[in-house]
This record gives sequence, structure tokens and C-alpha cells, in this order.
Amino acid sequence: MADVELAARIKAALSEVEIPGGGDLASYAGLSEVIVTPSAIAFAIAVAPGMEAAFGPTREQAVKRAQALGGDRKVLVSVTGDKPNVAKFSHGKATPPGKTKVDGIKRIIGVGSGKGGVGKSTTSVNFALSLAAEGLKVGILDADLYGPSVPKLLGLEGKSAIRDDGIFTPHEAYGLKVMSIGSMLVDGQAVVWRGPMATSALRQLLRETDWGDLDVLVIDLPPGTGDIHIALFQQTIVDGVVIVSTPQDLALIDAQKAIDMLGKMQVPVLGLVENMSYFIAPDTGNRYDIFGSGGAERAAATMGIPFVGAIPLVMSIRENSDAGTPPVVAVPDGAEAQAYRAIARKVITTLR
Ligand code: ADP
Repeated sequence: MADVELAARIKAALSEVEIPGGGDLASYAGLSEVIVTPSAIAFAIAVAPGMEAAFGPTREQAVKRAQALGGDRKVLVSVTGDKPNVAKFSHGKATPPGKTKVDGIKRIIGVGSGKGGVGKSTTSVNFALSLAAEGLKVGILDADLYGPSVPKLLGLEGKSAIRDDGIFTPHEAYGLKVMSIGSMLVDGQAVVWRGPMATSALRQLLRETDWGDLDVLVIDLPPGTGDIHIALFQQTIVDGVVIVSTPQDLALIDAQKAIDMLGKMQVPVLGLVENMSYFIAPDTGNRYDIFGSGGAERAAATMGIPFVGAIPLVMSIRENSDAGTPPVVAVPDGAEAQAYRAIARKVITTLR
């Protein structure tokens, strides 16, 4: 059945679900669009602040109706009562209430950037592989809704499996456990996966995946600062975030914004990585500081955060990434792999 047709049938079934105060869910103004993908059904119910608990039974009924029609698709229904509020936490001293750990995962490290295209996903994947090369049990969660590329970078194809009990089984690649928000999307749908739906998808990927025991879960965050970041940092204890930036000033200004947000949300910045930092000519081996040198390092010093390393701009990083064989595993003795591994070691030291 076409996805739109199924979405319409689910919407129709929601007319049999009651909402608090009378009336049905299908005609309720707070119901979002119903999104159907090959592996998931998602929608959100916006309610007045304080009404979340009252809508619990409505949500439960809605999930059941969707499950009955959706075959083996995962059903994601979120009830949201309020817009996440960054300011709420900006002056707090203690850990904000409601932050919890994820069962079986010792540490969670986010990889973020001020804007897209700076090499954040490439860095996330090679960083995760470098942590694994240090002997740690590592997973990677691709939360970059607007450009989920981790599976491709790891040479993975196909969606992740869902067990009978509704729990996701992660893919495995080069010893990493891998889940991607991309496996829930079909082309072009990222745009409608805004706000509550995106945050609810991330929450479920994080907490309803059979990660096993992990020393570290690396999360490839979307670029910038948005709902996904706020919801993640409010709900989950994230040990810290590594920020990736290119040397250009503009990217650094964007990176500064991301760092300011982390400060407000009391999430430690583990370090700044300068990507595409310098160019090594393949023929002569000469180094060219094409964007000027040391920009990110100086910026890190000004911002009072650790500078954890620079990655050169080299064709082989791009080629190996496109081929699904990341440099850290493709050429483990190469200079690029060593650059990523040095970063991972520094971050581990900072964490300890
Ligand atoms: P982002 O996640 O920030 O959007 P990606 O990791 O997808 O960025 O990288 C964008 C592009 O730049 C990709 O084609 C990737 O292969 C390439 N790239 C990333 N880092 C490097 C590097 N150090 N040298 C050469 N190419 C790189």
C-alpha cells in the first residue's frame, strides 16, 4: 500500500480515539501530520502545558491503532506540552531535572558543528572507529536528520531490523554498533520531521535499540542548534560534545554559537577539531595552509575550550569515505588515520 494511503487510513482510525474533555483525536487541532515511511509511522500530539499525563491513554490508544494497521513498522507517537526552553537551564547550578543515562551505555559523546558541510559526519565515524581502536566497545548513532550519512560512510545498506518486541537491532560495521535516523526516513521527508517528531524518533533510537554494553556511544548530531539538541541534552546525560569546524571565520562564528548553547545547557565541550585544516599536495607532499593557519586553535584558546587536533584536507579522506571504507580502518597506519586517533586519545584523556 502506498504510504500516503496508509497515512490516511491511520488518520481515519484515530477518529475512534478519545481525547480528554471529549472529542476525537483525528479532528483534534493539536494532531500533527501522520508520517509513514517504509519502517516507521510517526506523529505528534501537541497539548496545553501540564496536560501531557492526561493525554497518556490517548497516546496509548493511538499507538495501538497505528500498530494494528502498520505491519511491522515502528510506531512513534509523542505528546508534547511545551516548547523546550533553553533559557530555563541557563542559570541553574545543579544537573537539570529529568536527565537520565541510557541503560548499558557508560558514556555518550556528541559530535556537533555550527553548520553543515564541515566534515562532521566524516569526523564522527573516524572518531568512533578510533575509540574502538583504543579497545573500547563503541556504538554510533546518526542523529543528523538533514543529512544522515553515517551508514553510507560505513558501507552499510538497508534499514535496521526491528525485533518482535519492538526493539531495534543495530547494524554492525568494523566492530561498531550502528543506528541511523536515516533508516526511518524516505527521500525528501526530513523537512517534515520537525520538532516533536524528530525528537521522539531520536529518543526511541537511543533508548529502544539493543546496544548491548557499550563503553561509548558517539552521536552524530545535526548541524547547528535545534530541537533535537535541546531535547537530547534535557533528557539524557551527555558526557560532552566535540565540535568540528573548518578554519574559515564564518564557520568558527557558527561553532561559537553551538558552544554557547552547550554552556547554557550545562553540557561540557570536550574539544574543538579543525577539519580541512591544511592541504597536503599529493605530488610533492608539501603542506599548504589554504585558509591561514591556527585559526581554530586560537579560537579554542579564546573560548577556553581544549583544541584536540587538526585533520588535513586530503583527497583520500573523501575517496575512502565515499567508498564506505573510512581512513581509520582503510589505511590505519596513514597520516590521516593517525590524526583521527590522536584526537580520540585526547578526548579520552579529557573525559577521564
Ligand atoms: P557534514 O557532516 O559536516 O555535513 P561530511 O562529513 O558529510 O560533512 O563531509 C562533507 C564532504 O567533505 C564529504 O564529501 C566528505 O567526504 C568531505 N570531507 C570531510 N572531511 C574531509 C577532509 N578532511 N578531507 C577531504 N574531504 C573531506
